[in-house]
Amino acid sequence: QTSDNPDRSVAFYSTEMNQGMQERMRVESGLRHALGHGELALYYQPKFDILTGHIVGAEALVRWLHPERGIVPPAEFIPMAETTGLIVQLGEWVLEQACAQAAIWQRAGLPPLRLAVNVSAREFTPSLPGRVADTLKRYKLDPSWLELEITESTLMHDIERVIGIMDRINRLGVALSLDDFGTGYSSLSYLKRFPINTLKIDRSFTTGIPHDASDCAIAGTIISIGRQLRHRVIAEGVETLDQLEFLRQSGCDEVQGYLYAKPLPAGDFELGLRENWLLTA
Ligand code: C2E
Ligand code: MG
Ligand code: MG
Ligand code: MG
Repeated sequence: QTSDNPDRSVAFYSTEMNQGMQERMRVESGLRHALGHGELALYYQPKFDILTGHIVGAEALVRWLHPERGIVPPAEFIPMAETTGLIVQLGEWVLEQACAQAAIWQRAGLPPLRLAVNVSAREFTPSLPGRVADTLKRYKLDPSWLELEITESTLMHDIERVIGIMDRINRLGVALSLDDFGTGYSSLSYLKRFPINTLKIDRSFTTGIPHDASDCAIAGTIISIGRQLRHRVIAEGVETLDQLEFLRQSGCDEVQGYLYAKPLPAGDFELGLRENWLLTA
C-alpha cells in the first residue's frame, strides 16, 4: 500500500532522483578523469565512393577505453557530456587528436583522405573556426584532410549566426556535412542556404532498405534533394549488398557501414588502407 502513503512515495521518488544524479555525477567525474588520463581514443570508419569503391575519407568516432568497463560507446557518455558542457573539452581533444593523426598520414605520403570529426551543437560557437584554423596550422595539415559533421540540432539555434560560422569554416577549406539528415527539425528553406558539402542519410533510413517502402522513398528523396542542391550524399549504416545496390541505383555518391568496415583503431585502419581499401574496385 505504498501508494496510500504520501511520505513513502516522496521518499521513493527522491531516492530514484538521487540515484540518477549520483550516476550522472559518477559518469561525469569519470569522463573528466578519462580526458586527463588518456582513456579516450578515436576509432576510424572508412567512407567509400559508391562507383569506384575507392576510399574517400573516414569518420572519427570517440571511444572511452575504460580500465574496468572496457570499450564504452559514445552513446553512453556523449549525451551526458552535452548536458554538462564537458563536450567542449572533449570536442577540443577530438579535433586535436584527429588532426594529429591526419598529419601523420599526410606525412607518410598517403593520398589525401578527409577525416570527419563530429561536432555537437554546443561546440558550434564563433570561436570554433579560429580553433580549427589554429589546429590545422600547428600540424601543417592541409585543410582538405578535415571535415566537420554537424547535426540538425546545431541548426535550430540562431540561424544567421550558425551560417556565419559555417561560412568561416568553409573559407578555411574544411568541408562540412549534415549528419543524421532527416531525423531533426531543419527546414528545407534553410537547407539551400547552408554552405555544406555533404548530406548524410541517417542509419535509421538505410536500415529499412530495400524492404521498407517508406525508408526507400525517404533515402531516394534525400539523394535527389542533395543532387539538386549540388551536395554529395552519403549513406551511413550500409550493411548489405541489397542496400548498396539500391543506393547505387538511386544515385547516392558515397557509403559507410559494416558492409565495408566497422570503426577501427588507427593502427588497424592504417592496415586496411595499405592492404585493401585503396585497391578495392
Ligand atoms: P554518428 O555520427 O551518426 O555516427 C555513426 C554511428 O553509426 C557510429 O556509432 C558508427 O559506429 C555507427 N555505424 C556505422 N556503420 C554502421 C553499420 O553498418 N551498422 C551499425 N549498426 N552501426 C553503424 P558510434 O561510434 O557508436 O557513435 C554514435 C554517435 O555518437 C555518433 O553518431 C555521434 O553522434 C556521436 N559521436 C561519436 N563520436 C563523437 C565525437 O567525437 N564527438 C561528438 N560530438 N559526437 C560523437
Ligand atoms: Mg557522424
Ligand atoms: Mg550519422
Ligand atoms: Mg546517425
